[in-house]
Amino acid sequence: MKIKDILKETTPHISFEVFPPKTDAGFESVLAATDKIAALKPSYISVTYGAGGGTSKNTVNIASHIKDDLGVTSLAHLTCVSSTREHVHEVIRKLKEKGIENILALRGDIPKESEFPLPDQYKYASELIKEIREQGDFCIGAACYPEGHVEAERKKDDIDHLKHKVDCGVDFLTTQMFFENSIFYNFLYKIREKGIVVPVLPGIMPVTNKKQMKRICDMSGTVLPQRFIDVLERFGDEPKAMQQAGIAYATDQIIDLFANGINHVHIYSMNKPEVAEAIMNNLSEIVAGR
Ligand code: FAD
Repeated sequence: MKIKDILKETTPHISFEVFPPKTDAGFESVLAATDKIAALKPSYISVTYGAGGGTSKNTVNIASHIKDDLGVTSLAHLTCVSSTREHVHEVIRKLKEKGIENILALRGDIPKESEFPLPDQYKYASELIKEIREQGDFCIGAACYPEGHVEAERKKDDIDHLKHKVDCGVDFLTTQMFFENSIFYNFLYKIREKGIVVPVLPGIMPVTNKKQMKRICDMSGTVLPQRFIDVLERFGDEPKAMQQAGIAYATDQIIDLFANGINHVHIYSMNKPEVAEAIMNNLSEIVAGR
């Protein structure tokens, strides 16, 4: 099923995310986690794409397993910045062959070790989006950044670039994680004012590990509100307490989003079925399983 059709539904929905293993050795354990997450009946499951594209076959295979064996709609991420056009086109062909209808089209982070962009390589996600549109009847998602993308010097320019990207053929957007919902509401107001009208799924990360959080925030430029810093400081060194507090914090954000009229929330579940399940349990009377 195309995600743009799922997004027409007006009751509260949750989707989850898994990431593929870096090596083939980890494949079975990722599959086991994916199976447990699929049993929660989310509206779809997204599968990230390893930076550099070296593990692209795992993304395609996991997305295919979710759709064909588990009966859940899948969304395959695809980044383009570190790959040749030939490789990217090959992955699109494989996705088409396997009947995967949904692609999250991304640029990917600029590789530090090589020149950017190389001749005949992609510079922005918008170029990839145009090419996917030409190659098949896909539902195309893209990324957006309520706090501004790390490379953008001015948020205004970032929103102008987002408008151009959406106009290249985007059906829906998913946000970078945020920990203060007012940041998302302000962003939504600004992009709607700019004429970006596609559905926007807020991306929520249930934080279960203090160290991982620091690394992710350094990379993405995500700002932590004091309320969340207090949680990290109080519980960050006790893994079980941190997990419980992180799930409660994320649940609180999700309920606030639903209460404010958002119908679809994407959870960065990071291959952790126990976290996905705890969130679904907290929302058992709110979210309808599919
Ligand atoms: P773009 O939309 O191309 O934007 C990148 C930067 O270029 C922005 O600063 C933008 O303002 C600027 N820009 C865009 N167009 C123009 C233009 N025409 N002129 C000048 N500047 C311009 N990474 C992975 O490696 N694998 C994943 O699976 C993955 N999944 C993600 C999922 C989500 C929901 C999000 C939010 C991010 C994900 N990422 C993933 C990270 C993403 O690849 C990085 O954030 C990357 O740096 C930007 O990708 P993009 O598609 O947003 O790029």
